[in-house]
Amino acid sequence: MKILLQFPEGMKEKAREISDKLESEGNTVFISAAQCFGACDLALEEARMLGVDVLRHYGHAEFHKVTGEKFDIEYIPYQSDANLKILSDNLALLKKYKKIGLLTTVQHVHQIPQMREILESAGHEVMVAKGGAHTRHAGQVLGCDSVSATVAQKESDCLAYVGGGIFHPTGVDAKIPLFVFDPYSWKAYQINDLIERLRKKRQGMLLACAQDKTRKFGILVSTKNGQYNLAGALLAKKKLEAKGRKAYILVANFIDTTACANFNFFDAYINTACPRIPEDYERFGKPVLDISELSKLLELL
Ligand code: SF4
Repeated sequence: MKILLQFPEGMKEKAREISDKLESEGNTVFISAAQCFGACDLALEEARMLGVDVLRHYGHAEFHKVTGEKFDIEYIPYQSDANLKILSDNLALLKKYKKIGLLTTVQHVHQIPQMREILESAGHEVMVAKGGAHTRHAGQVLGCDSVSATVAQKESDCLAYVGGGIFHPTGVDAKIPLFVFDPYSWKAYQINDLIERLRKKRQGMLLACAQDKTRKFGILVSTKNGQYNLAGALLAKKKLEAKGRKAYILVANFIDTTACANFNFFDAYINTACPRIPEDYERFGKPVLDISELSKLLELL
């Protein structure tokens, strides 16, 4: 069998061991060397070119159904056992809240029962809400899908995210206190101030895009399977041009900030790909607005 393996950045070091095992079983194995941050980014093109039987994607749950390919797509989850003492040792942070909305990433969803037990033993009620269209587990958040947080916070006094880094919790539109329990950095802290600072930066970019001198927009389209939104880009172009702006549709698999900056004539960008791309606005050197904010922009033009 011909197999293409694809790993997210944090798992690439496991490629050798898995490849060796599959080869010893008589398979022909290829390893995708491209960057990968989610199941929104399957190595479909490579799999087609190689004519493989299976594309095996590690570390993420299915993002959306991909149909019409001649090869099978397998998702191999990666379960990581976080040291949950980070939660039990820092319960003081949650002391004044009764109902806790619990959030985590796909790597740790299997530990939700243990997290719940820690919180319930301390007298809390725990809410684990179903996520959005791109998640597969209750309580799971993605950088672009925090529906489980949005739902949970309606019935909770605070949110508790157990997992690594700030990428996932800063994607939450938190209306109540949100605490991070990070078993990797071994830090526990409240993150609402940072979320608010990011919201203000987005507001600043909205105002910059609405300035009269912002005339030429680059509309970013990624061909990654879960990020492709040409319809949104065409609509954005039409609407911006109806307001007297000029818009150009830029297409790439990976949106490279340097390559975009080299065009040297855009005043701003509208992103239709991964909604977290606008956070890289400093590297673009120009304001970047997500397509979800287009209607707000059009109201200001
Ligand atoms: S946040 Fe971006 S990279 Fe991550 S799954 Fe969503 S679209 Fe993909």
